[in-house]
Amino acid sequence: MLYTEFVHLKTMKKIELNGIQDRLKSAKHICIIGHKNPDGDALGSTLALSHVLGKQGKSTVVMMPNSYPDFLQWMPGNDEVLIYDKVAEKCNESLKQADLIFTLDFNHLDRTGDKFSEFLKTLDKTFVMIDHHQAPDEYAKFQLVDTMVGSTCELIYDFIEILDRKQDLDQAISNCLYTGIMTDTGSFRFPLTSSKTHRIIADLIDHGAENSKIHRDTFDNNSYSRMQLLGRALQNLKVIESLNTAYISLSQADLDEFNFKKGDTEGFVNYGLSLKGIKFAVIFIENKQENIIKISFRSTDDFDVNIFARTHYHGGGHKNAAGGRSDLGLDETLIKFEDIIQQYKNDLL
Ligand code: 5GP
Ligand code: MN
Repeated sequence: MLYTEFVHLKTMKKIELNGIQDRLKSAKHICIIGHKNPDGDALGSTLALSHVLGKQGKSTVVMMPNSYPDFLQWMPGNDEVLIYDKVAEKCNESLKQADLIFTLDFNHLDRTGDKFSEFLKTLDKTFVMIDHHQAPDEYAKFQLVDTMVGSTCELIYDFIEILDRKQDLDQAISNCLYTGIMTDTGSFRFPLTSSKTHRIIADLIDHGAENSKIHRDTFDNNSYSRMQLLGRALQNLKVIESLNTAYISLSQADLDEFNFKKGDTEGFVNYGLSLKGIKFAVIFIENKQENIIKISFRSTDDFDVNIFARTHYHGGGHKNAAGGRSDLGLDETLIKFEDIIQQYKNDLL
């Protein structure tokens, strides 16, 4: 199969899987990598693929650049995941042995962090990219890319079909894929959620996905301190009515006060969008250790936060959900942000 299509500058579908069946047949050891600060889709897609390839007798290793929150650690296969930040040498050895390297839910090697990407770039290996972000890089020989799909997990489902391995779908794989689709579609409500998304979900439930339990395990797993941090974030919420914009900022002191743990701020940015009339929501989170402000952007309709993040904040992502960073201090970052968005008055009205 060889199929390349450019639908529109901002939407792209590219399937280049010619010969992958043969490559998979001969491959013994396969590495599967997700992006830095892994989310439900990164974990769900890598673990699901690992289970599928495991059923074909392959030895697989799933690697993540850094650790991730507790609410993502219940997924089957989680205990075998290698964290590059902790065991870089072990990861490097495994990568050197790899017959194939899958990169899932990202499309630039830089998204794995400085050291990991530096090592990946030294390797003379065959890469497979399965992803739904915009503007992919060119490092992968095999690609399954569709920017109009809401999650990488939906593409993994397609990939299982392409490999003619639907019979391998079991509860573990279905739970992993369900989780990634659920988290990346904002529980089936973001605009890219399609009838096909729901058909895939239906099939996953038929194959044992524990939908109600997954929602509970993922969303009703809060610590008291996280809820208190959310309270602080909402108190810090600022609305710029004239630009239909709302933003939250959390300083390192706020995080410390409520005993911040990785993942505690996940989803906070969406509260801005839940305000009536707001089209653009942002959260700025100070990270004193890395000396940066990590930023998440969310939008509704046509305001393209992927372009916004790329243009001003060394970032990227999707049209309605993107991320980036600022190297200025928190106060300065906020002042500059208020200045920058004045240019977007016409787009935000
Ligand atoms: P979040 O705001 O939840 O961290 O990320 C939203 C989306 O933007 C995700 O698809 C994520 O992969 C992407 N994203 C987040 N941060 C960055 C970044 O620094 N660079 C790029 N290219 N994408 C990012
Ligand atoms: Mn994703």
